[in-house]
Amino acid sequence: MNGTIKKPYMPPRPEWVMAEPIEPIKIFDDLYYFGNKAVGTYAIKTSEGLVLIDASDNVNAYDEYIIPGMEKMGLSGEKIRALFISHAHHDHYLGAQRIQEKTNCVVGMSYEDSAFMVYGADNHEGNNYKPYPIPMVNLLLEDGKDYTFGDHAIRVVFTPGHTPGCLSFTFDVHDNGEKHRAAVMGGWGVNRPYIYRNGVDTISVRQSFDDAVLFASTTLKLWTRCEEEGCDVYLNPHPYLCGLTPPPARRPGMPVRVSLYEKLKERKDGEPNPVVVRLEGVKAALSERFNAAMKTALSNSGLAE
Ligand SMILES: [Zn+2]
Repeated sequence: MNGTIKKPYMPPRPEWVMAEPIEPIKIFDDLYYFGNKAVGTYAIKTSEGLVLIDASDNVNAYDEYIIPGMEKMGLSGEKIRALFISHAHHDHYLGAQRIQEKTNCVVGMSYEDSAFMVYGADNHEGNNYKPYPIPMVNLLLEDGKDYTFGDHAIRVVFTPGHTPGCLSFTFDVHDNGEKHRAAVMGGWGVNRPYIYRNGVDTISVRQSFDDAVLFASTTLKLWTRCEEEGCDVYLNPHPYLCGLTPPPARRPGMPVRVSLYEKLKERKDGEPNPVVVRLEGVKAALSERFNAAMKTALSNSGLAE
């Protein structure tokens, strides 16, 4: 090192990840989605106010998504009690500082990712090193624990691999009073490892074998938890990855299909909720993720060349 900081290679963001607006969505009696088609916030309505999962990729998510969404959904009188952040990638925490400033809510995260948010390579904007705004994490969320807010308890699943301390969540939701159990998977896939060494951060082009195996193990852990708890709803903070919203239009190769969002809008009284996929559907989604991770592991093992 000669005192200069080498700039990392930052791949250009492809067009398909750009935010396209979408109306707020009421998914269950007590679960809502506020955000855009690419990423956003789930709001769990408890008897003690709202618990949010993730803060989206917008520093003004509070003003642009959450407050208008709450108004449209008749939730204006609700207090935002807590914000749980699944992991320390900026597209999940950028709105957090403003939400905390406006509501004084508790901000919960894993110990590992609250550190990764500060010291990891995804703590600044692009190549100009402008630091991202971050919240004050004042609740360290622990694996297997229930965090109770009135009539709802949010259970934490420690699912590292996508980031060092990525979290998933399981909790009860209700459809016209009927109980279901939702799983929100924090990270969707093996992530390119961000390496931070000697003041230089770089993004390795290849995913490592260890990362892929860790992510596969994590997926299996969540699969087991979902089986034990009888989860029948599978969600992701990136709503198109669980079929909730239409896939962003420009992503090449993604099949065109009717999204759960459109099905929810057209749902008539007495019809089943299309977001309920039964335990088999949850297992199928997680098995697909497991297989994808193991495929990455195999191609990185050197055995498949
Ligand atoms: Zn991520």
